[in-house]
Amino acid sequence: MTHDELIALDHQYVMPTYGRFDVDIDHGQGATLYDAAGKEYIDFTSGIGVCALGHGNQGWIDAIGQQAAKLGHCSNLYYSAPYAKLAQTLCERSSMAAVFFGNSGAEANEGMIKLARKYSFDKYGKGRGTILTLQNSFHGRTITTLTATGQEVFHNYFFPFNAGFRYAQANSMESVEHAAGHDVCAVMLELIQGEGGVLPMDKDFVHDLAVLCAERDWLLLVDEVQTGIGRTGSLFCFQQYGILPDAVSFAKGIAGGLPMGGVLANEKCRNVLGPGSHGSTFGGNPICAAAACSVLEQLNDDLLTAVIEKGDYIRAKLKRKKIPGLGAVRGMGLMLGIEVTGERTNKELAALLAQNGLLILTAGTSLRMLPPLVITKAEIDKGLSILEQTLRG
Ligand SMILES: *Cc1c(COP(=O)(O)O)cnc(C)c1O
Repeated sequence: MTHDELIALDHQYVMPTYGRFDVDIDHGQGATLYDAAGKEYIDFTSGIGVCALGHGNQGWIDAIGQQAAKLGHCSNLYYSAPYAKLAQTLCERSSMAAVFFGNSGAEANEGMIKLARKYSFDKYGKGRGTILTLQNSFHGRTITTLTATGQEVFHNYFFPFNAGFRYAQANSMESVEHAAGHDVCAVMLELIQGEGGVLPMDKDFVHDLAVLCAERDWLLLVDEVQTGIGRTGSLFCFQQYGILPDAVSFAKGIAGGLPMGGVLANEKCRNVLGPGSHGSTFGGNPICAAAACSVLEQLNDDLLTAVIEKGDYIRAKLKRKKIPGLGAVRGMGLMLGIEVTGERTNKELAALLAQNGLLILTAGTSLRMLPPLVITKAEIDKGLSILEQTLRG
């Protein structure tokens, strides 16, 4: 199939929900992708923060193949070893107590919202179901997680949206206090707002928020769908903020490219969602769980240290190059946002860069980099030189 034939098929048979780049992807190795015609692209996207181990990772391929040959699916009516092993690793490495497995970030956040409301209902009864979220946040595309998302542009078309969410300004305890009330059961936030523009929360704000949550028995819910699984240089970003959330959602990177998500809960919340209160047909699928075990096994201290080093390397290089049209760099580890200051918008730039062989994301008005955690220095150099040539050209 040629590139043009593929595009024609997509346009004829696929709902037009995505504004796709004029690029087809056929296969990849490490942080390098190839289209069907063999053209090379440096991958600064990992999907959208999904392919933590890059493309064609042998350990990941073997884990999936072996598990697929053994058992491809089994319902949650029965026990099976892959999800149990994964649960143990996740809990031990996050200091959390128990996990629920689903399939995506939005589903994970839905579970976390249900957990918070039931915790409150069990203890205080009705009327305490409101969750505070932050302006400029992103929590998913289901009706409830869209409502939780603190951006007006998302609160459109799909009326009626759900009750039970109020929004506070990020990094402002005053705004949180203003949004507070007797109906609140939880605060949900991203420690680095990803889709919003790669905007890290202030450590003081997060600390004060954690204290306030503890005082009022609000659950502290951290959406680590994008920041989790090594992206910022620790397994979860909260581990660098010095807090222990009541619940943490994860997805994107967990299974290295297969669909998986979930919610981790601390000791206080581990039994809130009892039998019959929540579930997911595909949740904890053995192949996805085996893939996730391979991701976590490879995501050891050495790789986590390398994530920090590579992030620092990219920042230092961007600083030295002083590329025209690019401004300040924000973020942690390999989750980086680059301010766009030139004539072209971030989206125009990303399209141009794709044509020149560099895949990069946008967020807010910035460029966003979420490269595979295993990206090599050579691939980083190649990607940054395409960035430089494109902007100087
Ligand atoms: C991507 C993302 C989601 C939604 O994840 P899906 O798997 O697309 O449902 C939720 N929260 C954050 C912070 C995200 O980055």
